[in-house]
Amino acid sequence: MLPRFKRILLKLSGESLMGDNNFGLDSRVISQYAQDIKLITELGVQVAIVIGGGNIYRGMNEAETGIERAQGDYMGMLATVINGMALQSGLERIGVYTRLQSAIKMEQIAEPYIRRRAIRHLEKGRVVIFGAGTGNPYFTTDTAGSLRAIEIKADVILKGTRVDGIYSADPEKDNLAKKFESITFAECISKNLKVMDMTAFTLCMENQLPIIVFDMNTPGTLHRVVTGEKVGTLVSG
Ligand code: UDP
Repeated sequence: MLPRFKRILLKLSGESLMGDNNFGLDSRVISQYAQDIKLITELGVQVAIVIGGGNIYRGMNEAETGIERAQGDYMGMLATVINGMALQSGLERIGVYTRLQSAIKMEQIAEPYIRRRAIRHLEKGRVVIFGAGTGNPYFTTDTAGSLRAIEIKADVILKGTRVDGIYSADPEKDNLAKKFESITFAECISKNLKVMDMTAFTLCMENQLPIIVFDMNTPGTLHRVVTGEKVGTLVSG
C-alpha cells in the first residue's frame, strides 16, 4: 500500500498518555502508540514526533501553583522530555530506531535539536522525537509541532487527539454537532473553531502546512490516515 505522505509530523498530547489515570504515563497507551507508529514506518513514511507534557506538568497556572509562569513553562518542557523518553523506549522495545532531540540541552539523555541532523535521521528511517517543545516559555507543544513540521518540510501535521476530528460544536455536549471532513483555515477562524492555539494555527496557515486532526486512541487509525482514507478532519488552505 502506498502512503499518501512522504514525511509527517505527528503531534501527540501529553494528556492522552495518562490513559484512564489522572496523572503520568499509562504503559498500555505507550505501547499502542508505538505499534501504530511502527506500522506507518513500515510503509516507508518518515516520522517526526512532538509530544506534549500536560499529563505531568503544565506551566499556565501561576495563581494556583505560586510558581511564576516562565519557570512553570520550563517545568512543562521538561515533562515533554520525560514523555519523549517513554515513547522512545516503547518504540525501541518493538524494534523501531529512534532519536530524541531536545530543544533544551541535556546531552546525557538527548541530542540537542539540530535541524539538519534531524532531517538526516529521518532520511535514514529513524523516528525523530522532538522534546522540550520550542525551548521557550509562553509557547505550547502545538506550536512546537507546527514549527518543527515547517522546519523539516513535513507534508502535513497529524494531530492525534481523543476525538475523531473537528466538529461544529463540542460532540460530548451537543448531539447536533457535525463533523467536518475538510475545512479551510479561513473557515476555522470565521466559525471560531479551536484546532490549535492561535500561534500554532497561524504558523500552519502562513506556511500552507495542512493539519489533519484524527483519533489516535483507536488502534490503526494513524495507518488509515497515512494511507489516504478519509478519516479525521483535514484543515488546509
Ligand atoms: N511549554 C512551553 N514551551 C513550549 C512547549 C511547551 O513553555 O514550546 C510548556 C507549557 O508550560 C505547556 C507545557 O510545556 O503547558 C506542556 O505542553 P502542552 O501543554 O502543550 O502539552 P499537551 O497539552 O499537549 O499535553
